[in-house]
Amino acid sequence: MTMASTPGSAGEESTESATDRTTSESALETARRQLHHAAEHLDIDPNVVERLRHPKTVHEVTVPVERDDGTVEVFTGYRAHHDSVRGPYKGGLRYHPEVTRDECVGLGMWMTWKCAVMDLPFGGAKGGVAVDPKALSAEERERLTRRFAQELRDVIGPNRDIPAPDMGTDPQTMAWLMDAYSMQEGETIPGVVTGKPPVVGGSEGREEAPGRSVAIITREVCEYYDRPLEETTVAVQGYGSVGANAARLLDDWGGTVVAISDVNGAMYDPEGIDTASVPSHDEEPEAVTTYADTVISNDELLTLDVDVLVPAALGNVITEQNADAIAAEFVVEGANGPTTSAADSILAERDIVVIPDIIANAGGVTVSYFEWLQDINRRAWSLERVHDELETEMQAAWRAVRTEFERRDVTWRDAAYIVALSRIAEAHETRGLWP
Ligand code: NAD
Repeated sequence: MTMASTPGSAGEESTESATDRTTSESALETARRQLHHAAEHLDIDPNVVERLRHPKTVHEVTVPVERDDGTVEVFTGYRAHHDSVRGPYKGGLRYHPEVTRDECVGLGMWMTWKCAVMDLPFGGAKGGVAVDPKALSAEERERLTRRFAQELRDVIGPNRDIPAPDMGTDPQTMAWLMDAYSMQEGETIPGVVTGKPPVVGGSEGREEAPGRSVAIITREVCEYYDRPLEETTVAVQGYGSVGANAARLLDDWGGTVVAISDVNGAMYDPEGIDTASVPSHDEEPEAVTTYADTVISNDELLTLDVDVLVPAALGNVITEQNADAIAAEFVVEGANGPTTSAADSILAERDIVVIPDIIANAGGVTVSYFEWLQDINRRAWSLERVHDELETEMQAAWRAVRTEFERRDVTWRDAAYIVALSRIAEAHETRGLWP
């Protein structure tokens, strides 16, 4: 994506919208259900659980924007702070017509769990503006972003709350936000946002990080279940930032990627696809099927008889309707919320291993943490160092989740939420409640 293009893809701290996850359950309901589910396995103070059901604060702001024709349009923006017991708030800012207060609260909770399972010193937040960014010119988006930054100035900051790109926002949006904040503060403060272009303090390797973490976790899962990658077949739905990076790494590491897809359908080759020769969404949008000899549908891709299925396009694609037909042994969630709650239960009954999004695609927020460290220390890391440190963090998180999985005989999803919640609850109990 070029810097001036309309932002479309989800950022590295993205979490799907409420209605993407399930048709009947909002992001807030999902986040609360997971909280209670994990709490059942842990001996924690019920008052802490009660506190975590609610956001700390939700900021609602009015964002007036001068359109190119001179008229003024007024938008509503939000920033929900869920929990900061482990460090500053962290989470994306989205520009989407359906942004609501409750959606920001629910998605902010997901960020709390995601940061905690990765053991990052951050809490969870989410925000956005209820606007269709595609209906605005680049100049209008810049004015919107600068005014939104000004309205949030008192509540964000490198030690308070660090936004990042999400649906409808991109590195350019973060550069404008950083510039507006810095101009008002009177000094350059790159650590106020992550996901910036490297020239203004962004990190090398950030864009590919969620896909890289999906590949690392897939490799660990295969090793855990004694499945050499060289004998492993993989199908990847979505060939964008997450899907293409994951597919290419698994291909490089010896796996056989037999299917990849975009919105138009899937390329299928049982002998294995040369993933480097097929352009990703960024390189040539929606072109996967034009390179294919055999095209199958996205629905067929999901039910292929492969070892690993990586849904990396949308939320809510494995549902009650197709869960019985999933033939993969392992599902590694590249997208946020690709498996509905009902489908999750069916897959568990069928002993299909599902590795949840909050660990699998957490490479994005982890490299955001690296970006923040580089910004506050005023020292850029090499790509090699980013890769090495990400590998270390992913392995540490994997080991923690694996320990709970083995100790408690729960699903991998429950194990990941148990790791997250126990860390958050322990911090709350140790800090205590201000009376
Ligand atoms: P992207 O825009 O780069 O790519 C999306 C891909 O999915 C494209 O190939 C597109 O053609 C395909 N697609 C769209 N609609 C589809 C459909 N109906 N069926 C099949 N394929 C379809 O997006 P991305 O950044 O790779 O994000 C993918 C998912 O991963 C989203 O759920 C996102 O929230 C999540 N995620 C992204 C990041 C990130 O930093 N990019 C981080 C964590 C999670």
